[in-house]
Amino acid sequence: MEIFGKNVFNQTVMRERLPKGVFKNLKKTIDEGLPLDPSIADVVATAMKEWAVERGATHFTHWFQPMTGITAEKHDSFITPAENGVLMEFSGKELVKGEPDASSFPSGGLRATFEARGYTAWDCTSPAFLREEADVITLCIPTAFCSYTGEALDKKTPLLRSMETLSTQALRVLRLFGNTTASRVTSTVGAEQEYFLVDKAFFLKRPDLMMAGRTLFGAMPSKGQELEDHYFGSIKERVLSYMKEVNEELWKLGVTAKTQHNEVAPGQFELAPIFENTNIATDHNQMIMDVLKRVAIRHGLVCLLHEKPFAGVNGSGKHNNWSMSSNDGQNLLEPGHTPHENAQFLTFLMATIKAVDTYAGLLRCSCANAGNDHRLGANEAPPAIISVFLGEQLADILDQIVAGKEKSSSANADMKIGVTTLPALTRDATDRNRTSPFAFTGNKFEFRMLGSSFSISGPNIIINTIIADALKEFADKLEKSKNFSADLEKLLQETANKHKRVVFNGNNYSDEWVKEAKKRGLLNIPSTPEALKELVTKEAVELFTSHNVFTEKEVHSRYEIMVEQYVKALNIEALTMIDMANHSIIPTAIEYATTVASSINAVSAVSGKLNVSAQQELLEELSNKLASANSNVKALEKTLESAIKIVDLEKQAATFREKVFTKMLELRSDCDALEKIIGAKYWPLPTYGEMLFIL
Ligand code: ADP
Ligand code: MG
Repeated sequence: MEIFGKNVFNQTVMRERLPKGVFKNLKKTIDEGLPLDPSIADVVATAMKEWAVERGATHFTHWFQPMTGITAEKHDSFITPAENGVLMEFSGKELVKGEPDASSFPSGGLRATFEARGYTAWDCTSPAFLREEADVITLCIPTAFCSYTGEALDKKTPLLRSMETLSTQALRVLRLFGNTTASRVTSTVGAEQEYFLVDKAFFLKRPDLMMAGRTLFGAMPSKGQELEDHYFGSIKERVLSYMKEVNEELWKLGVTAKTQHNEVAPGQFELAPIFENTNIATDHNQMIMDVLKRVAIRHGLVCLLHEKPFAGVNGSGKHNNWSMSSNDGQNLLEPGHTPHENAQFLTFLMATIKAVDTYAGLLRCSCANAGNDHRLGANEAPPAIISVFLGEQLADILDQIVAGKEKSSSANADMKIGVTTLPALTRDATDRNRTSPFAFTGNKFEFRMLGSSFSISGPNIIINTIIADALKEFADKLEKSKNFSADLEKLLQETANKHKRVVFNGNNYSDEWVKEAKKRGLLNIPSTPEALKELVTKEAVELFTSHNVFTEKEVHSRYEIMVEQYVKALNIEALTMIDMANHSIIPTAIEYATTVASSINAVSAVSGKLNVSAQQELLEELSNKLASANSNVKALEKTLESAIKIVDLEKQAATFREKVFTKMLELRSDCDALEKIIGAKYWPLPTYGEMLFIL
């Protein structure tokens, strides 16, 4: 396809435009994740600039991922003064390193404002690309972002570090199986992105959507998703033409947008790309979110990436399909065809199970934010309890490993690790359970807890690091072994025994599972403030520092930033509710009540005999709801005021969750009741019916 990768400075373009030696040097750097050789930077920069300028670019930007969860950029033009005017120039120095004044990004105390400089450094493993917006073309250079003293201020640096440790540990295990060909193991990710579309005209009339990204009020329409007619339904023309343009934009950027369909809720959709290495998949997911939002505007639509834009219908998540592959072409989570391959597969599988069980709290934490609190455990997304789905066949194999000796099973033949071939897993059999948060789906795991607005970096930092840790423990033991087969079998048996409690193949949405999980001692953390604490436990800090993924300071700074972000999100929501209640809903209710009251007076004036009971009943109901809304808005104001004054951040977050959030729900309930009884022509806000069904 002609447009695919058209805007990417990829290896084909590099090969064409760079001297042979330089290209070889750069390719080695990229493939092996080595530091860039400074002597080639100027040549690469010039080639990159020429390519970009030929395509109409005038500016370049270091494109980075601060702790906001989205991307940031500062544009510089190529223009450099020269003797007779100006030249378009771009040096190796400018390519490799940038210095945005970055004092206003969250740093969680890592960077005092007096040393506000942040540095961006080129990540040459993710290709530079051109972004076309309106008639401006900008060369974007993916970069890492760190402080003067070298601490990571972004989401890319620790991700790269986590990929490094995973590679190191996975290679050690591969070597034990006699592999001498692989020199690198990379984690791979395919992230399925869900989103909502609303007509822009409605969006602009909803301060809650504009400020908080979700509706804070809104009575249920008579129809929701109960007919299940939207899921995989035929896509409306307006949406189709939007999707077509989204795909084209993404293809130009080298993003393999592959599937698209209507999701469960009305107005909800999904886009899935083909998987790629986790660093690039993370950059690409940022581009996907950006393109979804930009293109929507061109179609008179707004794309909502919030986890729960509408109460009462499904929210949006992001399924993170994860695996690891070696650069000699193996997917390490692909069951093999020979006993040797099976033993290796089971080792990597068991390491994953061990990791998920040991660090379930961290996985839960990696999916915590204010938006996702509306989903996890709310019967539309996985519960807040982490468990692993293996499917019947693998679960049976696990049981046999636990039993420790060959054992007949109804589904499978006898098996012995390293000796017996696994029965071919029918792919179909592994993907039926859609309720599991961490499901094996044939040759990869699908982590289903992520919220739709997330940077996928956080969860993948955790997955990479915890699995690296489990593999390290395996390698530490097995490298000392004198009898590999026997010791491996013993190790897998011990591991299976210890961690089988995390395997659950049943319905994760059921109440029985909540009880059963408690019995098994599994964590069930319902809210963000609690979940975030998992990041800074002694074990977590030890894990991150021992694998060089975060320094202790970096972990704490991230914790602080995330708690702060939670508080800020709820604060904005509460303020928006107060504003909407005071400035639009309550005045509307008063206006309507006045109309009803004057109708009673008017009718009575004409004739005392006419029946005004309907008006009286309505007026009474209106007045009661109005009084309740009014007192709840005052109560919310007061609660918020005292919550804001709390100095201790953790206490503040807990107060927002327990007190402010509860008051918000009470106020919403009054206002939604008012919406149901106030005449349509008086109601100032677009309704759920309009927003969800008019596209
Ligand atoms: P389905 O969900 O219908 O089974 P697929 O299994 O083809 O569909 O893929 C779902 C997502 O998982 C896609 O984004 C796909 O690219 C991704 N995926 C497939 N294989 C891998 C892998 N080895 N590593 C990471 N992601 C993968
Ligand atoms: Mg899926």
